[in-house]
Amino acid sequence: MTTSNSKAAFEKAQSVIPGGVDSPVRAFKSVGGTPIFIERGEGAYLVDVDGNRYVDFVQSWGPLIFGHCDKTIEFAVMDAVTKGLSFGAPTEVETKLASKICDMFESIDKIRFVSSGTEAVMSAIRLARGYTGRDDILKFEGNYHGHSDSLLVQAGSGAVTFGTPSSPGVPADLTKHTLLAKYNDIESVKKCFANSSDIACIILEPIAGNMGLVPADEKFLQELRTLCDENGTLLIFDEVMSGFRASLKGAQGLTSVIPDMVTFGKVIGGGMPVGAFGGKLNIMNKLSPDGPVYQAGTLSGNPVAMHAGMASLEKILEEKDLYSGFEAKAKKLVAGFKNAAKDNGIALQVDVRGSMFGFFFNENEVKNFDDALKSDTDTFAKFHQGMLNEGFYFACSQYETGFICAAMTDEMIEDCIKAAQKVMKEIK
Ligand SMILES: *Cc1c(COP(=O)(O)O)cnc(C)c1O
Repeated sequence: MTTSNSKAAFEKAQSVIPGGVDSPVRAFKSVGGTPIFIERGEGAYLVDVDGNRYVDFVQSWGPLIFGHCDKTIEFAVMDAVTKGLSFGAPTEVETKLASKICDMFESIDKIRFVSSGTEAVMSAIRLARGYTGRDDILKFEGNYHGHSDSLLVQAGSGAVTFGTPSSPGVPADLTKHTLLAKYNDIESVKKCFANSSDIACIILEPIAGNMGLVPADEKFLQELRTLCDENGTLLIFDEVMSGFRASLKGAQGLTSVIPDMVTFGKVIGGGMPVGAFGGKLNIMNKLSPDGPVYQAGTLSGNPVAMHAGMASLEKILEEKDLYSGFEAKAKKLVAGFKNAAKDNGIALQVDVRGSMFGFFFNENEVKNFDDALKSDTDTFAKFHQGMLNEGFYFACSQYETGFICAAMTDEMIEDCIKAAQKVMKEIK
């Protein structure tokens, strides 16, 4: 396999774009090597600028639930494009998509559309703070909620308490209101409540996908709900990744816990830039222009993006066994990986939620960020490179989730398992 065109494209990009990429996860930094530049997508496949074809288990980091160039979504977008790209005035498709989502989720009476997951979470948190009149927020180590200032925190020196900025450029004054707890560890959450009576919201990925795939325990979610109720704190599920991925109703289809607010992104835009945040009426009524909490966006609810999201969601709702089909493929894939690893004496942990799958090169079960960090990233890097050479495109980090799309066939999964057997043997 040659990737000389990608290498040349990367050289050029680096001279005008920091790191040659518009989002750091694309840079292949944690696996070595250089990024593959994409020429086009075809269903389950990516085709790079050297003409190599890969089965794509990234799917734009989640959004493309039907794979690349799905005809239904493509036609919806092209039709919308001929009517105008943006108006900055309301369109009926926004109401249509909002109605569909409000009907689907018990937690959502009203929803507002924005242009990214980052924006959705940032706005949801402002609303939670405005609604409760409190400043502190609580998040979990290893959960990602976009790159807004108050969420770029890491554990400070000492015990779990207030976060410190995880990036230069974020003033400590902005993160001092962000408390940090351990995922799946209710005692660490109780400690935060003991330290602060001013917690506006707990935000979490109910199925974490940004430290590898690490689902929250049902009991943990229930205890969070109870703590929130006891303390007048809002519970926000960040379903930007898990929404319409883990099940039709995301994580909410798999738990009895009902959050106060939900954020979406990725799948909800069908491949176009869309985010959304929604919740109960009494909370959403506080949002501008009905209420005092300000939030706005020139391209929010963009008609082309809304039509892509609508076409995608309608197709999701039409296809009866979509998620069971996804799950069967995902389970088959990771079981194949697990066996291949075992045959070669490699420790591997695997998990699946609907169309999301994860695998850690790790001796032990992964329940939180500390566990995840004990994974063998060198072996992952070798596996990643080996699989790429075999024509299988995985996220270029141990700490990401893999995605099945509807265009994937059983044969592709079987071929991928065969490739994994070969690669594991080479790297053991
Ligand atoms: C991707 C992601 C975000 C950020 O969304 P962007 O569209 O990249 O801004 C936020 N939360 C979660 C859980 C995500 O997976």
